[in-house]
Amino acid sequence: MKRGESGSPASREFRKRAEKVLRESPARATPASTAQEQNLPRLVNELQVHQIELEMQNEELSLARDEAATLLEKYRNLYDSAPAGYFTLDAGGVIRQANLAGASLLRVPREDLAGRRMALFLATESRRAFADFVDGVMSGQRGLSCDVSLPREGGEAAQVQLRGEAVEAGRECRIVMTDVTERKRSEEALRESEVNFRTLFEAITDLVMVGTPDGRTLFTNAAVTRTLGHTPDELRGMAILDLHPPDKRLEAEKIFAAMFRGERETCPLPLARKDGSLVPVETRVWFGRWSGVDCVFGISKDLTAEQEAQQRFERLFRNNPAPMALSTLPDRRFSDVNEAFLKVLGFTRDEIIGKASPELGLFANEKEQAAVARILLVDGRVADHELQVRRKDGALLDGLFSGEVISSQGRQHFLTVMIDITGRKQAEEELRLAKIAAENASLAKSLFLANMSHEIRTPMNGVIGMVGLLLDGDLDPKQRHFAELARASGESLLSLVNDILDLSKVEAGKLELEEVDFDLQKLLDDVGATVAVQCKGKGLLFLCSSEDGTPRRLRGDPHRLQQVLRNLLGNALKFTAAGEVALGAGVVPGGGADPLLRFRVRDTGIGIPSQRVESLFQNFTQVDPSTTRKYGGTGLGLAISRHLVSLMGGEIGVSSREGKGSEFWFTARLHRAQDEAEAARPLPARVPGKAIPGPDYGGSRVLLVEDNRVNQVVALAILGRMGLSVEVAGNGLEAVEALRRARYDVVLMDVQMPERDGLDATAAIRDSRTGALDPAVPIVAMTAHAMQEDRKRCLAAGMNDYVSKPIGPGPLIRVLDRYLRRGPPVEGEVLDRGGEIVDLPSSGSCLEGTDGGVRPERPIRPHEGH
Ligand code: ADP
Repeated sequence: MKRGESGSPASREFRKRAEKVLRESPARATPASTAQEQNLPRLVNELQVHQIELEMQNEELSLARDEAATLLEKYRNLYDSAPAGYFTLDAGGVIRQANLAGASLLRVPREDLAGRRMALFLATESRRAFADFVDGVMSGQRGLSCDVSLPREGGEAAQVQLRGEAVEAGRECRIVMTDVTERKRSEEALRESEVNFRTLFEAITDLVMVGTPDGRTLFTNAAVTRTLGHTPDELRGMAILDLHPPDKRLEAEKIFAAMFRGERETCPLPLARKDGSLVPVETRVWFGRWSGVDCVFGISKDLTAEQEAQQRFERLFRNNPAPMALSTLPDRRFSDVNEAFLKVLGFTRDEIIGKASPELGLFANEKEQAAVARILLVDGRVADHELQVRRKDGALLDGLFSGEVISSQGRQHFLTVMIDITGRKQAEEELRLAKIAAENASLAKSLFLANMSHEIRTPMNGVIGMVGLLLDGDLDPKQRHFAELARASGESLLSLVNDILDLSKVEAGKLELEEVDFDLQKLLDDVGATVAVQCKGKGLLFLCSSEDGTPRRLRGDPHRLQQVLRNLLGNALKFTAAGEVALGAGVVPGGGADPLLRFRVRDTGIGIPSQRVESLFQNFTQVDPSTTRKYGGTGLGLAISRHLVSLMGGEIGVSSREGKGSEFWFTARLHRAQDEAEAARPLPARVPGKAIPGPDYGGSRVLLVEDNRVNQVVALAILGRMGLSVEVAGNGLEAVEALRRARYDVVLMDVQMPERDGLDATAAIRDSRTGALDPAVPIVAMTAHAMQEDRKRCLAAGMNDYVSKPIGPGPLIRVLDRYLRRGPPVEGEVLDRGGEIVDLPSSGSCLEGTDGGVRPERPIRPHEGH
């Protein structure tokens, strides 16, 4: 310790005190002391001084110790709170000491660290490197470092870097541990982004070049080598301009300069491959920095595919046989059209290009065209719009237009294609006219057939009626036989005419069904009666049955229903030589409000081979050609039946065994009669009944209006038998005259007559000004036109009813009964009178004087089904 002015304030104090003691002591000791005595105070004095000095030194020492302790504390804090971990290890890698940061990096409390091997805290894969590192450090190597990872529970390992140096003469080493996890992570991210960038750079199909500011390539991507055929080595240092064909380099240089000045965006010049061939490209260049140095960038877009597509489009456009046009948007002026366009529309190219369609008057209806264009603008496309276009010479064409908005060279265009459908439209129109003509012809045919049938039926009516009258008279057996043959032939001719008429109506779609209430029971009885007689004649048994619950009062077309039944029964009779014919009716369960009825006609006849069954229901089909010779017939009956059944919403079919017999069945959808109470009443069980007595109209007066002489005679004979008094008028005029003079109970009015036809006459009679005594007299049309519309016309003219010609007794009775008998008229009432009839004869037979006792061999049993 140095003396003097240095030292602490305390030591300075001590020094002052010591000096004072020295100054005072010689004065006190000097006068009366021996040499020894004189020495003593000095010694004491010196001692005092020493003591003081010692105290001083002691004081300074303690001060220095305090200072050292503060310093130590400071350094320990520094050591612990250092951001890096500090470890002292022995030569075996055992931790002697660690700072707080080190303990927290290892995630272990510091007090648990001393005495443990450092390697235990490292990831297994890092331990080898760590051992080598410690060895290196201990052997005195300097500047060593080592990266190891520290496992982290439930997460990614932390990455740390170790640096170390040997201390204590190589017995220990001190290690500094720094957390480099973040740094490593960002290094990794950088590497990844570098890889991504590389991949992108290399994968890009555009040619990318980086060059020095004076235009020498530094770097090119794979697209450059791939497209141009140079190796990367060849490319390095090459002038970018030299990638252009020699004759274009000067021009390229000028364009590039303009681009660098910002005056141009792209350079359209092609690049040259190593072999000299050209690559169409569009190039952009700009200045920038690459890895920190100034450089130029160039990107060339390879236009080969685009040019090919363009060429394909060009070929398609130019050579297309359909007219095509490109027009600019939004002004819709033609920018290009193909040859077909010019040819079809008759313009020259110059007349078209730059014009808009209204200026050319191209569309017959510009508004329609504008509407289509609007759709095109909104949807980007249109398809198959019909528009009329006008050729230059004014001729109109029908076009089918499709179009799309396309972009080309940065502009939007309409691309439209027109298909010339003028021919097709014409063909369609011709077809339409032809169809109308065909329909008219078909109508004419059916009208012709209707008229023919009238013309044929009228004389047939006469023939059959006359023969009937003949047969009523006295004839010898031979004459009777001839007359019967004549009547049979006449009847079959009539049925043939009827069939052909029906078929022509069906085919003209003119066959309409009636909708009237009828009694199914009576209908079946009616049909059954005729068949029963015929069966009797052939020695066959006839069975007729209806199932329980079959509705009785129905609404539909009873005549057509009857026609089908008669047809099937007629066939059954015709093709059965022995055994029986059976008719059954029932209702298909679950038919709902409108019952579906099912009818069956079974026979024990010749049967039908299964392979023929399919075609039976077609026109003019018979099982084999010999059928006509042997059994007669035309092959129309089943075809007509099928049509009728399908009009009635049903189906028809057959099951048959050759040699054993057939069963024909059909269904028909009918409505319940409008009189609901009646409708609900099912058919009663059948009981054998009795024949109906003939009607008696006791002197009622009938006016028969008929121009045809033969028909007059026939009608007179039939009406006379009913006890009616009949007067005849030869046409409508005479009829009106007769009705002015007298009252009649009913008028039977022919429709087609000379002078004044039936419709006209009826209208006159109904008109009170005409002066008929009874303008409301019932008028019944006798119509040969069995067509529905003719009947409608009759009713519309004011007639009350109609009968079909040729008139027979049965239908006539049915009609007359409505107007000549007392009580409310009831459909089919004539049959009701006899109660429930089973085996009744044909309604005509009683009138013709035959007895009602024609019975089948066995009475029909109730509910006899099959
Ligand atoms: P048509 O009887 O006038 O010849 P259809 O159309 O009524 O015409 O019948 C066609 C053919 O079907 C008949 O010619 C006959 O060969 C066959 N056929 C119809 N019904 C029967 C039946 N019940 N038994 C045997 N064959 C039948």
